[in-house]
Amino acid sequence: MGSITELSAFEIARLVASKEVSCREVTQAFLDRIDKVDPTYGSYLTVDQEGALAASEVAQSFVDRGEAGPLTGVPIAVKDNISTDGVETTCASKILKGYVPPFDATVVERFKQAGLVSLGKTNLDEFAMGASTETSAYKLTRNPWDPERAPGGSSGGSAAAVSAELAPIALGSDTGGSIRQPASLCGIVGFKPTYGRCSRYGLVAFGSSLDQIGPLARNVEDAALISEVITGHDPMDSTSLNLPPISTRDLKKGSLKGLRIAVPREMFGEATNPGVAATVQAALDVLRREGADIREVSLPSIELGVTTYYIIAPAEASSNLGRFDGVRFGPRSEGKGHIGVVEMTRAEGFGHEVKSRIMIGTYALSAGYYDAYYLRAQQVRALMQQEFANVFNEFDVIASPTSPVTAFKLGELNHDPLAMKLLDFCTIPANLGGMPGISLNCGFAEGLPVGLQLLGAPLEDEKLLQYAYAAEQALPDATRRPPIP
Ligand code: GLN
Repeated sequence: MGSITELSAFEIARLVASKEVSCREVTQAFLDRIDKVDPTYGSYLTVDQEGALAASEVAQSFVDRGEAGPLTGVPIAVKDNISTDGVETTCASKILKGYVPPFDATVVERFKQAGLVSLGKTNLDEFAMGASTETSAYKLTRNPWDPERAPGGSSGGSAAAVSAELAPIALGSDTGGSIRQPASLCGIVGFKPTYGRCSRYGLVAFGSSLDQIGPLARNVEDAALISEVITGHDPMDSTSLNLPPISTRDLKKGSLKGLRIAVPREMFGEATNPGVAATVQAALDVLRREGADIREVSLPSIELGVTTYYIIAPAEASSNLGRFDGVRFGPRSEGKGHIGVVEMTRAEGFGHEVKSRIMIGTYALSAGYYDAYYLRAQQVRALMQQEFANVFNEFDVIASPTSPVTAFKLGELNHDPLAMKLLDFCTIPANLGGMPGISLNCGFAEGLPVGLQLLGAPLEDEKLLQYAYAAEQALPDATRRPPIP
């Protein structure tokens, strides 16, 4: 056996269940590695040493009573926009510095009940707005494949932690790609369930019609197992679907034989780096040899996706972020009267990217502009949903690169926010359409990981995971680890 931190979540759970290791040993192994290695990668904002060790004792009591579930004793990292009872939750923003939620998000409550152990909170782009984790007000996170490069974002801390073996699994949130894109850039698996399958209660809202929590993991099986724990109906979230949790029962029963895969031409255009396109095509050739029926399709609305998203997401954000006024949570600035205090708090508390989105969103929603922007964007969104639905009438899955580029250098794009946003065109459709999407590593371009994105029809989460599992078995690089100490 290698060291504990090299193991996947289900392998750890098996050792715990058979009492070959104790939950405390597992947790301590990760805490020690975080201590040693995370100063290099900066994936965590808060490491909850005490809480993790206490939770490991709770997990051990499940094992000792014969009540261990499939992931009991497994450590997990949590993106810092997901509320954790008693543990600071900042959204990587100064405006929430010191905010300690008095409750757990539903996903956290559920994983605790299943005996998982939270190690702490991971870095992100401020309020999940970004694609490199560089808009965090607190620290830079580095890509374990090359520390000079960004881990992607906004769930960059979660992706780096899983990739660098600082957690076997992690939770992220995905509004326009924030689980799948960093998973792609860090060479791991990232899964966004169908909108509404995973409760958003306790997730600090960004774009409420788009936001979805999901896992980052080292393989599809781990992603599926944790999805089963955290999904399912929640009366605390009014958009939660009245459905049971995502089932893993048939995960390994899928086959690539006869699988009908649509490949949208628009995701392999000029904007897609040739090395990425070639790597994804080579992976598709592997799937074809395994019997998949792969055909090119055209989905013209993909080209409108980024524009549409960057109206709807900021509009919803401008409304959601209205609550941060320094009255109830976070630090409060000095100012003249109530309005002055709120103005100064928001001016000093929010970073540049967040402010620019609040302004764009407020503008798009204001009288006289609502019809021209927000309403139009909603119409395009409906059109796009229709276009994708038509493809799913004839195909089981849509395949593409997750990101048109591999991990870029830190500092390379953050001075050009437009260029960074234009890179989101492969991931955004799943959010606009509510579809489930998964990214898995399918190879390397110039030594950097390349993600293959698979999209399923809404509510076909189980099937999508099955296909992804089958693809992972066929792709030799799917679970390769970065060359780190
Ligand atoms: N990169 C996109 C944005 O900046 C997506 C972010 C996300 O999914 N949270 O909005």
